Amino acid sequence: MGQVWTGWSILDGRWMHRFAPDLAPLRCARPVVFHYCRDRDAWVTVQGMKDFELYQQILGLVEPWRVESVTLKTQEREIEVRVGFADTLWGCPQCQQRMQIHDYEERRWRHLDSCQFQTIIVSRVPSVRCPEHGSQTVAVPWAEKYARFSRLFERLAIDVMLECSITGACSILGMSWDEADGIKQRAVKRGLARKVPAVMARLCVDEKGMGRGQNYLTIVAQVTEQQTTVEYVGEERNQASLDAFWEALTTEQLAGVEAVAMDMWEPYVRSTRAHLPGAASKIVHDPFHLVKYMNEAVNEVRKGEHRRLQAQGDDTLKRTRQLWLYGMENVPAKHAQRFDEVKELNLQTSRAWAIKEVFRSFWLCPGAKPAERYFGKWYGWAIRSRLAPVKKVARMCKAHLSNILTFFVHRLTNGPIEGLNNKIQGLIKKAFGYRNKERFKSDIFFHLGGLDLYPAQ
Ligand SMILES: [Zn+2]
Repeated sequence: MGQVWTGWSILDGRWMHRFAPDLAPLRCARPVVFHYCRDRDAWVTVQGMKDFELYQQILGLVEPWRVESVTLKTQEREIEVRVGFADTLWGCPQCQQRMQIHDYEERRWRHLDSCQFQTIIVSRVPSVRCPEHGSQTVAVPWAEKYARFSRLFERLAIDVMLECSITGACSILGMSWDEADGIKQRAVKRGLARKVPAVMARLCVDEKGMGRGQNYLTIVAQVTEQQTTVEYVGEERNQASLDAFWEALTTEQLAGVEAVAMDMWEPYVRSTRAHLPGAASKIVHDPFHLVKYMNEAVNEVRKGEHRRLQAQGDDTLKRTRQLWLYGMENVPAKHAQRFDEVKELNLQTSRAWAIKEVFRSFWLCPGAKPAERYFGKWYGWAIRSRLAPVKKVARMCKAHLSNILTFFVHRLTNGPIEGLNNKIQGLIKKAFGYRNKERFKSDIFFHLGGLDLYPAQ
């Protein structure tokens, strides 16, 4: 130790720099005294911190844990923080009874990077031998049991994975696919375990294909003003798929359900009627699903007509599939003229389209009574259309009319259901389809479950 220098540091509790006496201070906070010696590497602060004290603070370590050394491995681009512990009695993780250390095991955890360096915590983890619970590993404050990452790193990884694909997260964070997936699966498990049964007034039930083959899942989501969260995912799309959801609810939860939006899919209707008290007035066949049927009918009419026209060398309907599926107000400007021309032609497809458009306005009726009258007129028109696919949908709607009219009581709007549908579609796209059902399920919960995913602090 040689000459004493007084300098400025940025030791404001967040970071520190060591200043050579000839370097201008980066930021002024409070004065600190430096000792100087000839060996540059031996700079030590007196009122400031040493490397390991800095990490001690960053990691938030308290007795008996302490940082023993910090090693910069330039070649590996790694900082190794070695954590040790003082002699103490350790609590059994099961019964908290305090006892002597029995053994230890050296372990490594990845922590948040320090600038461009991966930061690894290395420590011996004590284990105790509890007379009642046998050999038990003591919990470390920076990570969860069995984890290979610190809590803070897991938090970051979860945030990144919520924003991008797992492959993207791997390249940003410099980790393997299995490691990223491990963090994700643990997060979902943690989130589901933390869920407490709550009353869910508005629900929607939907089926979802996995994007490969005819493999389906049944999804139940809760719709609130703020958000739509997936509450349940079941295998297949039969009655048992939904039964399991209802059967897991408490009596209070069942009593608290006010409305359930769903497709006119008989297994779901049967399951709901069997389990939900007052289901008859609570089931709502929502506009999103019904208009989908009408769109399919229009498309079928178009396909048939296009085939017939083409046989006569008429290409009028070529490349018009998407045009007929737009709502009248949503036809993009670049297609507007073409669409105007083609829909004015005396085509079966334009008739089917007009019936669909009038059906869409049904939901604008001010209440159940006027809606019933509106439906009656529309139904008459649809049934006389001589368009088999349209007639089929009209009959189906008539058979379910009482649960279509419930819309005017509950007003479950399209937005959340359609939004959820699009988000799940987005997950499938991002994963290029799912081969594995369990992975699809956990991705739905991870992204759309509204779960508390983070490790406890
Ligand atoms: Zn014990």
